[in-house]
Amino acid sequence: MDFFSSVATLPLIGPRYQKLLKKLEIHSVHDLLYHFPFRYEDYSIHKKINQLMLGEIVTITGGIAQIKNIYLKSNKQLTKLELHDDTGIINCVFFNQHFLTRTLKPQMTINIAGKVDSSDGKLVFISPEYEIVNPEIDPVSTSRLVPVYPETAKLTSKWLRRKIYNLLSCEMFNDLEIIPLEFLNRYRFNNIDKSLRQIHFPASPTDISKTIERFSYEELFTTQLIGLVRRSKWQSRGVAKKISLNGNELLDFMSHLPFQLTKAQIRVCHELLTDISKNVPANRLIQGDVGSGKTVVAALAMYAAFKSGAGSILMAPTEVLAFQHFQTICDTMHQIDKYIPIELVTGSKKTTLVAGKKILVGTHALLYSKKSLGDIGLIVVDEQHKFGVEQRSKILSKVQATHTPHMITMTATPIPRSLCLTLFGDLDISNIDEMPQGRLPVKTFVVSENKRADGYRWIKKKIINENCQVFVVCPFIEDSQIETLKTIKSAVSHFELLHSQWFNDISIGLLHGRLKSKEKEKIINDFREGITKILVATPVVEVGMDIPNANIIVIEGAERFGLASLHQLRGRVGRRGKQAYCFLFPSKEGLNSNRLKIMEQTANGLILAEKDLEHRGPGELYGIKQSGKLRFRFADFSNLELLEKTYQDAKYLVENPDKFPNSFDLLNKLSPDTIAGN
Ligand code: ADP
Ligand code: MG
Repeated sequence: MDFFSSVATLPLIGPRYQKLLKKLEIHSVHDLLYHFPFRYEDYSIHKKINQLMLGEIVTITGGIAQIKNIYLKSNKQLTKLELHDDTGIINCVFFNQHFLTRTLKPQMTINIAGKVDSSDGKLVFISPEYEIVNPEIDPVSTSRLVPVYPETAKLTSKWLRRKIYNLLSCEMFNDLEIIPLEFLNRYRFNNIDKSLRQIHFPASPTDISKTIERFSYEELFTTQLIGLVRRSKWQSRGVAKKISLNGNELLDFMSHLPFQLTKAQIRVCHELLTDISKNVPANRLIQGDVGSGKTVVAALAMYAAFKSGAGSILMAPTEVLAFQHFQTICDTMHQIDKYIPIELVTGSKKTTLVAGKKILVGTHALLYSKKSLGDIGLIVVDEQHKFGVEQRSKILSKVQATHTPHMITMTATPIPRSLCLTLFGDLDISNIDEMPQGRLPVKTFVVSENKRADGYRWIKKKIINENCQVFVVCPFIEDSQIETLKTIKSAVSHFELLHSQWFNDISIGLLHGRLKSKEKEKIINDFREGITKILVATPVVEVGMDIPNANIIVIEGAERFGLASLHQLRGRVGRRGKQAYCFLFPSKEGLNSNRLKIMEQTANGLILAEKDLEHRGPGELYGIKQSGKLRFRFADFSNLELLEKTYQDAKYLVENPDKFPNSFDLLNKLSPDTIAGN
C-alpha cells in the first residue's frame, strides 16, 4: 500500500472521519502511523472479581448480568452494568454514555479495565474502559499496555487504537525505514517495522523506552538530513554574482556612519563580504541580540551589491519596519552618494520596478507583486523567524535567475546551538555577540495589579519632568499570535482608558496593523519626533522598531508573550545610552510570574531563548511550520551528544547519496520541497 496516500483509503474511514482526523493533523496513512501515544495505561494485570482490591488498576473478564440506563435528578444520565465471573459479581457505572446499552447486551462477555473504586462500601468500577471479548480479535483497550493518543472530543483514543491496530496487523512497514542498516546496527535500534508496532502496542515498559530512543534519533536525523540536503541543493542551484568592495569603498562606507562599528560588527561584515565575494550562493544567518546593530551590516552588504552592479532586496516582516529600514538605508547610503537608487515597495505603494541594480526595501508585498523583481544579486531577510521556507522559495521564483542570489537572513531571537545544528542546518551562522558601547541593561519590573496606579504616576512624572517617551504594548487576545479584530479592539479600549483616566493631558498615539499605511507612517513619525509621548500598540512594534528617544515600555498581559518576544519588545527602548525601563503587567495577579521574573534577572537573549525552548518547543519559538511530515515528539534539544551524532550521520548520507537510495526516496516523500531544491 502507498503509505503516503490519504487516510481515506483505509477501510471504514469516510469523509466524516477524514475531516475529524484532519483536526489531529492526520492526513495520510503515514500520519496515522506516526500519530504516537503520549502515554500508556497499564491494564496488563488480569484478575478474578473475588481477588480485586481497592485502588488497584486491573482488567477483569466477565459476563453482563444486567445493564440499564438511569436518569438522575441532576439531569445526569447514568448507565449501570452488573458483571459476573465464576468468583463473584461487581458493578460498573458510566456517566452520560447511554448509547452503551445499544452495544453492550446481557449475556455478552466483556473486559473491563480501570481502577477499582468503592461506593456504599462495595467495590465498583467508575467509567472504566470496556471491550467486547472476541476470540478472533486481540483486545486493544484492555488487558495490556494500552496506548493513549492525542485525541479530540469526537475522535477518541479508543477509536484510534482500533484503526491503528488494524493497520498494523495487515501491513509491513520496512519501506518506511529512513535509517540505514549500518546505523541501526551500530546503535542497536530495532527496524522501523518492529518499532512502529512497539510504540503503539508495547509488550513491556522496556519496549517503550527502547523504541522512544529510536524515534528520538529518527526525528533529529531526518531533520538534519533535510537541512543538509537543502544546503547542497542551494549551493548547486547555479552561479551567484560575485559581490565585493575595494578598500576605498569600504572606508568610504565606514567614514560616513554616525558611529564606529563594534568589533563584532566588523567581524560579521568580514564573514559576510567573504561569503558573497564568491560565486557559490551564500546562505547565511546573522544573529545578534536586539539592538546589537544588524541593520548596518545588511546595509554594507547592499552597498557592496550596488557597487558590484547587482540589485538587492531587504525584506521586513511588517510595513512599519519596512518604512524604518527604508529610512535607515536612505540615510546611510545617501550620505555617501545621493544618487544611489533606493525604492520602498509595500502593499500600498505602487512601484515602478525596473530590472537593474537597485536597492529595494519592502515587505511580503514583494512576493505578491505581479512583476518580476529583476536581476537580484543579494536578498536580505530581516527577522528570519517570521518567514517560512515556503516564502523563501517564493521569493526565489520572483527573481530573474541569471544568477542565484546570495541569501542573508537576520534574527534577533538568538538561536540555541542545538537548534542551529538541526533546524538551521542549512545555514552558515554569524554572531554579533557584542552591544554598541554605552548601552545600559533595561531595568525590568513585573508589576502587580495593585501597583498599577503607582506605576502610571511614576511614568507620568518621567514624561513631564524628563521628556521621556513611552511604548504601551497590548497583547494578542487570541492564541493565534496574529492580529485579529479582537486584539485591535482591546488595544483601542486600552488606549481610551489611558487617555481618559491616567494621561488625559498627554498626547497619545495608537498603532495597529489595520490602519492605512499613510496613517501608520504619520503615527510613527509623530512619535519619533516627540509630538506624541505615548504610543499604544498591538505587538506590531515587536520586530525591529527603532525609536531612539523612547525609554520606557509597558507590556500589558505580559504572561501571554514568550520570553524571547518580551525581550524583543524590551529591546525597543534604551537605545541612546539613557537608562531605560520595562514594566510587565501580567493580566491575572501572579499568573506565571515565576517565568516573568526571569525577565527581571537577565538581559541575555540567548538565555531567554533557551528557557523558551524548554517551555514551548522549537515550533512556537521560531514560528517554524515544520516542513512536510516532520514533527517533534521525542527530540530533546538539550541532548547535544545526540544532536552531534545525528548531524554526522546525516552528513555521511548526503556525501554518499548513491549508497542510500532508500533513505532519499523516503525523504522525497516526507519533504518533497527539499528534494525539489527549494
Ligand atoms: P538590531 O540588531 O536590533 O536590528 P539596529 O540595527 O536596529 O539593531 O540598531 C539599533 C540601534 O543601534 C540603531 O539606532 C543603530 O543606529 C545603532 N547602532 C548600530 N550599530 C552601532 C554602533 N556600532 N555604535 C552605536 N550605535 C549603533
Ligand atoms: Mg533589526
